[in-house]
Order: sequence, then structure tokens, then C-alpha cells
Amino acid sequence: MKFEDLGLGPKTLKAVEESGYSEPTPIQAGAIPPVFAGRDVLGIAQTGTGKTASFTLPMIDILSRGRAKARMPRSLILEPTRELAAQVAENFENYGKYHKLSMALLIGGVAFGEQNRKLSKGVDVLIATPGRLLDHVERGNLLMNGVQMLVVDEADRMLDMGFIPDIERIFKMTPFTRQTLFFSATMPAEIQRIVDTFLHNPVRVEVARPTSTAETVEQFVLKLERSDARHKHEALRRLIDQEQVRNAIIFCNRKRDVDRLAAFLIKARYNAAPIHGDLPQSVRTRTLERFRNGELSLLIASDVAARGLDIPKVSHVFNYDVPIHPEDYIHRIGRTGRAGQKGRALTLATPLDDKALQAVQALIGRQLPLVGRSGQTQTESLPAQEKTPEAAPEKAASRPRRTRRKRRSKSAAKSAPEAAPAQHAQHKKPEHKVRPPAETRAPQAGFGSAIPDFFKREP
Ligand code: AMP
Repeated sequence: MKFEDLGLGPKTLKAVEESGYSEPTPIQAGAIPPVFAGRDVLGIAQTGTGKTASFTLPMIDILSRGRAKARMPRSLILEPTRELAAQVAENFENYGKYHKLSMALLIGGVAFGEQNRKLSKGVDVLIATPGRLLDHVERGNLLMNGVQMLVVDEADRMLDMGFIPDIERIFKMTPFTRQTLFFSATMPAEIQRIVDTFLHNPVRVEVARPTSTAETVEQFVLKLERSDARHKHEALRRLIDQEQVRNAIIFCNRKRDVDRLAAFLIKARYNAAPIHGDLPQSVRTRTLERFRNGELSLLIASDVAARGLDIPKVSHVFNYDVPIHPEDYIHRIGRTGRAGQKGRALTLATPLDDKALQAVQALIGRQLPLVGRSGQTQTESLPAQEKTPEAAPEKAASRPRRTRRKRRSKSAAKSAPEAAPAQHAQHKKPEHKVRPPAETRAPQAGFGSAIPDFFKREP
């Protein structure tokens, strides 16, 4: 199947070609023709499958015929988070660069005034989070009865975030004759109910869950004996030092832990920053931008903030916590090993996480290799990482030697008595922010001698 076979116009095809895509992904091949045929579409697909283009591309062509009226958007795309909304807006700008469509992005954390001015001029495409959209409706800034196309993206995430009542309200404000494109990675009963209520005989396009990320992502679980923050912080720090981390996203289940862990790593002079929903939008945007352009190496994130973010070339994902919802494990590790690149996903698991870990393993249909030692559990080594050509950025890595050594020995005595002499040597002369110097790192291949003592000893 080629993009030319999907019914896209020449301007859109040109933009697609310039994006470097050679062929449509399965969700694009399955969804684009029915969108052009005017059908409702139920897309069961996760982020990373190319689903954004599966609705933006045909929308651009369809909306290019006709003009917008003031305060009456012709199409509406609902996204659960500001970051995702901003990302979809970027996609629109990119794929729609040869069209003259007007777009407004309605997200929280940004002043109403500018958004209102755009609405007053008339927009073809409105991309919004549900809360901010309803705020504008209540202020009388917006009429929904011109919406011909409605996209609900990441519906299961909307459910997790408590947005379903808002979504129902929004559905009811839009005309019955609208075309609805509805995307969800999973189909819990509540989502199925929404689909049955608001979609008209939808074409169902389902693409395989990307458990195939396993092919490019090496996954391990590090068993810890204790679940206190200090122990987990230290364990994570050592793991980061042990790996050849170019850049990593570190996931925590709670926003509070995102902040605490970020503070710990920053204090230990890692190039780290937090991102979660309680931070001001301007800070989130800037942090993300720094991470994208390589200025920032470690992004400490909550699931919601990181959901669906398209950040190419992340070498590692660390799960500071085993996710509460097993599907989040797939979303998280999908941030690495993208586009055929190798990635590593390492998860810390304490005895309290046993159930959650079982749920993850049941979902992905396999046991994850365990490293470290935990009572009766299996002990395996953490296979060494293949050498990566890119070194971690040198300058940002440096930590003052004296402070570091002092702090290291203090914390080792207090919270990590298992630290082996080899590990001390490794931390003595740090040259890199996110990885120790190559000559002091554990051997790069095989087992046995490659196992850092940290993984072999009792905490
Ligand atoms: P999404 O699932 O929409 O978040 O897309 C994930 C990534 O796939 C983004 O980086 C897109 O730029 C990229 N992408 C979308 N369509 C294609 C395609 N047909 N071929 C290759 N990459 C694509």
C-alpha cells in the first residue's frame, strides 16, 4: 500500500513525502480511506503506531474545501493532555504546510485572551483539552454547532483522567450529523458505552498492540528488598551510572515522587528535570524542548505528562515504580527503542510491587528477566549493554570531585552498604552526567564478571 492509494491530495502527499515516510502504517492504511468516505472510525491503536497522521492527513484534505466562520470551528480534536494537544498541533502544521487552514490550540496554562482572538477570526481546526474547551464554551467564546468532524484521541486515557463526563457533554454540543473519529488503545466497558452511544456504525480499525517493541527494547526488572525512597533513589542512581545512558525518561507513579526524585538527582548533579501536570505549562514546554534538543538528559515524568510524547532516540526508560496500570508499562517502554533503534527499559520492583509486576507480565505475555537478589527469587545478571557510538554529553556530566566523593561515601555507608569496591572506583572520578567513564565501567559483554557487585549483594 502506498500513500498515493489512500486518496490524499497532492499538497498533502508532498508534505508526507517531505516527512520522509515511505509507506502508510497499518492504522493509516486502515483509517484514511473510510475517513474520506465520510464514515465514523473507531481506531484501536496506541501511540507510536502513526495514528495521529491517520486522522490529521484526511482532515486536512477534507477541511481544505470550505471556510471557517467566526467562533464556529469546523473540526475539533480532543486530547487528554496539553503536551499531546501541542504535539497534534505540530503535526497539523507540518502536514498542512501547503494548505491555508487556520488552527487554534486551546490548552490550560495559557492565557485566554490570545486563544479567544483566534476563535473570533474563525478556525478550521480546534485542538483542545476538554477542560479548557468547556471553559471557552461557558464564556461564550465558542459555538460547537459548526463542528463537522470530531476526533477523540486517547479515549482510555481520558477515562483514567476522569474526562468522560466532559467528553459526553462535548459530544452532545456537536451536531448529530458530524463525522466522529475515535481512538483508544484499549476498550474498557465505559469506552465501549461511549462508542455505542455516540458513533454511527463506525469502521473498526484495530492494529496490534505494540508489544513488538520488545524486539528493539531490552527489558529487565531489578528486584529491591526495600521500598523506601532513599533506597530506591540510590538504586536508581547506580543503575543510571552503570548503563550507557544517552538520555532517559524515568517514570514515577506519583507526581510527588517525580519531584522528589528529580530533586535528588539534581542535587547529585545529574542533568535532570521533572515533568508532570502540576507544573506550569511554560515550564513543561521548556523542559520538553530541552529534552528534545539534547540539552537535558534525564526527564523524570509522570505517565500523564509523558503520554504519547514523540521523543525520538531515547536510549533508556527507567521505571522508578512498576506502573499501577499494566498498559502504562507498554506506553512507557515504547518511549525507547523507537524506529528500529535499540533501547533498554529497566524497572525497579520492590516486594510491594509483586502484584503489579505480575499484571504487567500477564499483559505482555512473558516473564521479564530479573536481576538483583530478592529472597527466594531468581537471580540473574544484568546483561551488559551493547556499546553505543554516542557518548553522553561531557560538560553537563561533571560533578565536583570532592563533593561527589564525600557524598558518595556518606550515602554508601548509610543506605547502600552493598556497594562493592568496584562501584566506589566507578564513582570516584565521574566525567559524565549520566554515565561513568568507559574505562571504569563493568566489562561490556557476557555475564559473570560483567555483573556489578551491586546486583549481587543484599541491600
Ligand atoms: P503517533 O502514533 O501518531 O504518535 O506517531 C508516532 C511516530 O511515527 C511519529 O514520530 C510520526 O512522525 C511517525 N510516523 C507517522 N506516520 C509514519 C509513517 N507512515 N512512516 C513512518 N513514520 C511515521
